[in-house]
Amino acid sequence: MTQLDIMYYYFAFIVFLFGASVGSFLNVCIYRIPEDLSVVKPRSFCPKCKTPIPWYCNVPMLSYVFLGGKCKYCKVPISSRYFGVELLTALLFLLVWLKLSVFGYSAPLGMTEIYSVPQVFCYWLVVFGLVMGSFIDIDHYILPDRVTLGGIVLGFIFSALVPALHQQEHWLKSLLISFAGAAIGFGLLWLVAIFGKLIFKKEAMGFGDVKLMGAVGAFFGISSIFFVLIFSSFLGAFFGIACMILKKKELQSRIPFGPFIAAAVLVFMFWGPSLIDLYINMLTIP
Ligand SMILES: [Zn+2]
Repeated sequence: MTQLDIMYYYFAFIVFLFGASVGSFLNVCIYRIPEDLSVVKPRSFCPKCKTPIPWYCNVPMLSYVFLGGKCKYCKVPISSRYFGVELLTALLFLLVWLKLSVFGYSAPLGMTEIYSVPQVFCYWLVVFGLVMGSFIDIDHYILPDRVTLGGIVLGFIFSALVPALHQQEHWLKSLLISFAGAAIGFGLLWLVAIFGKLIFKKEAMGFGDVKLMGAVGAFFGISSIFFVLIFSSFLGAFFGIACMILKKKELQSRIPFGPFIAAAVLVFMFWGPSLIDLYINMLTIP
């Protein structure tokens, strides 16, 4: 192992810890944003006994393990989901980081695609929004405008600032691709929602999903829309069938679609271009 490799693993570990801390903050956002509460004040407290949580009991992931998943004071069990969100965010942050290439150094765990440092920050932001939106959707069946409309605006801003997001060199080209992606994402899903309502006589897709697809298009362009739409529909269908087989009626009747969109976006973000290439190759080779 070279000295560079050691540094690489060291930074990967730091990124994992950073992701876990972001996940810890996400837990606060997921809990407070739908209630219209501030995400900074007051500091975290136990949902049962309301005792403020001291910093040494609020260390991401570790505290949960050391306190045995219970409040230190009143011993009420803390949902394992807090731990899950922290671990998930840490892993996704790490996965984005592993695609970074610095000065052409090819990392031992490096994946084939290469992101620049600004891209890494953009994709961390995307992970942040998707994790937040998904869990709020699971809890409340809504995708807050802060995530969806906020995502569209941030998609425009970062497309102009980081043209590499759309494999461009000029900011204006990148911004136009972002506009087109948002328009197609929003427009197409809007049509799906309208026709779905006409055909099934009930809400097939919420307006939050429509706005979320606008944000997806703003960050990833038009090609992502079709991929995400098809892939998330498959995931949703599989989940629906699984619920039917397992006879989970309460889940079957109302499934939030946001998490499936989020999962499809993550797959596109990490492997999308190679998957599309694979598909085109399958079509063109007789
Ligand atoms: Zn407590």
